[in-house]
Amino acid sequence: MGKYAVDPSLPRRRRPVTTALADTGLLYALAHRPKYLEMFLEFYGENLAVATAVEDEIRKIARVPQVNRAQRNLVLMGACADRLAAKLDDKTITVIEPSEDSTDLEAALQHQLREFDRAEAGRHGRVWHPVDVDRTKRHHGEMESILVATDIIKTGGTAIVLTNDRGASRAARQQGVSARNLRDILAELACANPDLKEEDLLAAFNEMTAHFGTLPAEVRPTDSSAFRCRAFGGACQFCDR
Ligand SMILES: [Zn+2]
Repeated sequence: MGKYAVDPSLPRRRRPVTTALADTGLLYALAHRPKYLEMFLEFYGENLAVATAVEDEIRKIARVPQVNRAQRNLVLMGACADRLAAKLDDKTITVIEPSEDSTDLEAALQHQLREFDRAEAGRHGRVWHPVDVDRTKRHHGEMESILVATDIIKTGGTAIVLTNDRGASRAARQQGVSARNLRDILAELACANPDLKEEDLLAAFNEMTAHFGTLPAEVRPTDSSAFRCRAFGGACQFCDR
């Protein structure tokens, strides 16, 4: 099924966009280390948003009562959902609904994401069921994130999706939307904040992706140089390219 779709025209340093749409898996990964979630939210500020379906996915888990979480294996995920729900409540994270005239694109994206999923399942020797409701639902947040991004681009804005999911990155690319992942985000933070140490960022990356939003092997950092800013004398030529 190919590799995570990296947009080669995007520099390592963060290039501001009208809106960056984060998907659920990426947000859970960040929320697993609250310090980095805070840094990320501050860094993206008003440009960060989620699609309605991503909000729904987060709130659904946040609503599971504490007493039922252990038995449903939702202790870690529930804690992350609680942190993210608080950010939705206080409007730190904005929610955007896809436009209503995107039904055709919605169907096309649904199909693409399912095909990527099928290919992935095949690669791991798993059986893939075309009417597996959980799988379809699992891609709802990613699909809506891409829809909202295309809406924004259509009206003259700029948008990217933030996802660790390979299929979502590829489906986005086919619609002309660039994807960035957690590795990119931590590298962006390194460029923006010289006090961050690359070893700490690598350790945080590994902790954050141990449970949620695992990044495909082809874009996973092999060492801490992934988070090294080459800025010199205030200029960041390597990172800006
Ligand atoms: Zn840099």
